[in-house]
Amino acid sequence: MHRLGSGKLVIATHNAGKLREIAALLAPYGLECVSAGELGLPEPAETGTSFVENALIKARAAAQATQLPALADDSGLSVTALGGRPGVYTADWAGRQWFEGPKDRDWYLAMGKVEGLLAELGPDADRSCWFSCVLAIAWPDGSSAVYEGRVDGTYTWPPRGLRGFGYDPVFTPLGASETFAEIDPDAKHAISHRADAFAKLVKDQFGG
Ligand code: IMP
Repeated sequence: MHRLGSGKLVIATHNAGKLREIAALLAPYGLECVSAGELGLPEPAETGTSFVENALIKARAAAQATQLPALADDSGLSVTALGGRPGVYTADWAGRQWFEGPKDRDWYLAMGKVEGLLAELGPDADRSCWFSCVLAIAWPDGSSAVYEGRVDGTYTWPPRGLRGFGYDPVFTPLGASETFAEIDPDAKHAISHRADAFAKLVKDQFGG
């Protein structure tokens, strides 16, 4: 199996929130991180039906285009009462804003859609939910490694907090009273789905 050395690593995301979190998590490992956005790489279509498939699509596309190892994140929110939706389609539920360009999404629209479906189920709807994260590393020779993480919580309405990104304002981790958008970013990094996947990556890649 390949291991990440101390050279360049492409972070195969165009999502500024994910990039910020991945760069913070990778900071201690002495890698030179460069993002897909900085390199002007196109965003591949996420045609997979699982987080693993989509993470591999993104990592492989970036590794092939740059001939460097690439790390991709595919993640999303699953709500128990909605049968695990939006799941792999989490980003799609935020639509696309024709007036702002293809990368802009409306997260409040997306959070409202989930809340609307829960409200239809009535006040006793099960609001338990979880964030999933798959981190995939692909190397230019076609080899790859995959790490999965998860954090459980409660779908919270109305949304609270201005930190984080995406669905953070509606996610209260189990045992906490503040949402992911209210807590300190370091506290989120200690328990998040991305941190969980990242701990597995670090153990496997760096032995620590
Ligand atoms: P994708 O992995 O690019 O398909 O996008 C997944 C989407 O899930 C993101 O754009 C976010 O809206 C949401 N998401 C993933 N991780 C987080 C997180 O840590 N906080 C809030 N939302 C997240």
